[in-house]
Amino acid sequence: MNGCFFKRAIVFLLLGATVTVAVAWGCSLWSFVWGVRGEGDTSFSENQVLIMVQWKRWGAISVHMDKETFESRVFDKFEKRASRIELPHWTDFSRPLRESRLGLSGREIRNAEGRGWPAYSLWYEIDDSHSRSVKGGIQVGTRHAPMQDDAVPRVLPLRVIVPGFFVDTLFYWAILWIPFVPPIWRRHLRIKRHQCQFCGYPIGISPACTECGKPVMARSAKTKA
Ligand SMILES: [Zn+2]
Repeated sequence: MNGCFFKRAIVFLLLGATVTVAVAWGCSLWSFVWGVRGEGDTSFSENQVLIMVQWKRWGAISVHMDKETFESRVFDKFEKRASRIELPHWTDFSRPLRESRLGLSGREIRNAEGRGWPAYSLWYEIDDSHSRSVKGGIQVGTRHAPMQDDAVPRVLPLRVIVPGFFVDTLFYWAILWIPFVPPIWRRHLRIKRHQCQFCGYPIGISPACTECGKPVMARSAKTKA
């Protein structure tokens, strides 16, 4: 009985994770941030200018970063200031690209797309410096965005956003589990009261229920013996 309960709980957890992926993929195919007002900020340090813009809506977030690093101090006259916008922790934008680490390029233009609901659970990256190549996702086509010349890739994201994926999985697990809670609870109560778990008829000495004919619980039979 208990083993069955836990097995079922694990199956439902897997189902919850599957729904989480399906919802994130659905959000990625059909939820876009077009027409949403972005929230942006430009910040400076001595030799760096950092532009960050974020667009958010139901199930979708786009994060754009344009970071240019110079070899010498160029922003003396600007007030040094940290960005007011915080990079989502799941982007790896705080870690510089290989080209920048090797000093081959001073500029990084990066775009992260997070998808999922209620929390963002999966993400992918569109690399603007390499002709809009998709990283961390499967491209399944393109789509024309309003006010933009080039088509935007349609992508099924594959990178996991750890806390978001966990939250969504539990959320869908709970929703899928709810219809099963009253029957489980009712069966549990009937067994405790020495009643047949199927029909609620009191259990006698018979190994089968005298009311509905179904086998009575082994534990109840043992207590009777
Ligand atoms: Zn019965």
